[in-house]
Amino acid sequence: PPTHTEADCIFCKIVARELPAFVLEEDEHTLAFMDINPGTRGHALVIPRNHSQDLLTVPEADLTATVLAAQRLAGRMKERLGCDGVNLLNCCGADAWQTVFHLHIHVIPRYRDDPDRD
Ligand code: 5GP
Ligand code: ZN
Repeated sequence: PPTHTEADCIFCKIVARELPAFVLEEDEHTLAFMDINPGTRGHALVIPRNHSQDLLTVPEADLTATVLAAQRLAGRMKERLGCDGVNLLNCCGADAWQTVFHLHIHVIPRYRDDPDRD
């Protein structure tokens, strides 16, 4: 069965630079990188450097730093990509579509003229 520990966590490996990723932003507590399977142009993920499985178990300080980093990245997306809006998304639990069990916030730029928008 899946253990969801740091030892087999792909996002911990990205933090440790043991797996490649296109890193957009980083600070002492967080890392932001491109999603490998973007839903829209510029789709990124923000994670705490420390491993937490999900939204319900992350320590408050790591959550705060992660949300603030997502806010900062959303602002930069508007500047750099010229997106018209941004969706933030967190999936908490396998039944809520979580597939990587290291807390992450999706930061998804949205475009007014995107034909695929729901
Ligand atoms: P979840 O479904 O858990 O909310 O989102 C996991 C996200 O991580 C997915 O959007 C998926 O495309 C992305 N992802 C999975 N593996 C990797 C990887 O190795 N590198 C990167 N950059 N993104 C990944
Ligand atoms: Zn991890």
